[in-house]
Amino acid sequence: MQILYSRESARKSDGGATIPSKRGITILGDDSKSLKIHHLVKAPANTPWAKERQQSWDASFPATVYSTPEMTIDGTPCSAVTVILRTKGCHWWWSSGCTFCGYFNDTRDDVTSADLHSQWEHAKKKFNNFEGHSMVKVYTSGSLLEDREIPVDFQETVLRDCFELGKELIVESRTEQITEAKLAWATAINPNFTVAIGLEAYDDEVLRFHVNKGFTAASWDRAVERLQKYNLRIKTYLMFKPPFMSEADALDHCVRWIEAVAEQSHEISINPMNIQRGTVIDRLHRHREYRPPWLWSLVELIQISHRIVHPNGGKNGDDDQVSRLIIHPTAGGKIRGSHNCGQCDSEVVAAIERYAVSGSLDEFNGLDCECKKRWNQELTNDRAIPVPLGTSIPRRGLLSEVLRSP
Ligand code: SF4
Ligand SMILES: [Zn+2]
Repeated sequence: MQILYSRESARKSDGGATIPSKRGITILGDDSKSLKIHHLVKAPANTPWAKERQQSWDASFPATVYSTPEMTIDGTPCSAVTVILRTKGCHWWWSSGCTFCGYFNDTRDDVTSADLHSQWEHAKKKFNNFEGHSMVKVYTSGSLLEDREIPVDFQETVLRDCFELGKELIVESRTEQITEAKLAWATAINPNFTVAIGLEAYDDEVLRFHVNKGFTAASWDRAVERLQKYNLRIKTYLMFKPPFMSEADALDHCVRWIEAVAEQSHEISINPMNIQRGTVIDRLHRHREYRPPWLWSLVELIQISHRIVHPNGGKNGDDDQVSRLIIHPTAGGKIRGSHNCGQCDSEVVAAIERYAVSGSLDEFNGLDCECKKRWNQELTNDRAIPVPLGTSIPRRGLLSEVLRSP
């Protein structure tokens, strides 16, 4: 996308003919042809370092397996095992890819069904058939139910094992895999699991131009209808501060998106942007054209949105719960993750993490720091000055260039 606003696109010569003039300053870009976001996304994946890294993985071992505290469907605290499998990655990445997705760093394009079964056995062995854990999350750097990515016999193994072991299963999927036929097949094996969809934004413009998601908000609506028909649980991921967006826009938009998806989502998990290697957002960040979100913005987001998920001001497990709002700031407090000034970060991250479990706004009582003023000023500036990429201080270069967001 490139929008050009020229102050003076042409001037009249003495003879009356129109002669194109040298362009005045523009708000966005110059006269050069706009670049497709697709090419920006794909470039790093084909570099020698990325290829070499991909070939370095052992396909018979999962990328990682670990356990974390969680909450069951009925709100009881429990423990969950997360299994991140080494896979061929995501079919959307093969043809294009999302602007922030660094999963290509962790995949191998020759992973077989036998490899995946061996990874799964390794995970089960490590956690003694998941004994003592009520929940198992199986993540594939793509969609578990996509046949081009994951062989059908392995999809069946995961669904069946979790059902037979009596574990709450969570899988991730894009919207286009969630067809009637697929859900009918999957629920015949395991009638009760959660599908987490990386919707990122309930806004087609953001999905297309900021995220390059490759599906629309309407396709999420249709997927949700089908999941409801098969009584499956829905978890929705939203992205906080996608590329090419200011801090204030991120906050204002995200509140709207939470509002749009809350009724249909059992859980809403907000992913504050963290910078993964070789992505478009990585490039913007290294050029100091992007600052990961402030932790204060996440606190503000929760404080504004709490009324959406708890209309009567309750907390998690109360009768007024519409949805559970979760934020785990990945790399929180680090320069490549959501961060504040460095002094207050760990305290603010801890409060956000506590809210994800309790759903109580009391977690933020007494939280303050000098840097909150700077954050507030940045929001005020973002709202007052029409700068598409925002006014955050880490942006370098001439003020005129910053204001143009070239
Ligand atoms: S759909 Fe998910 S896995 Fe695929 S490119 Fe986008 S973020 Fe990555
Ligand atoms: Zn601070």
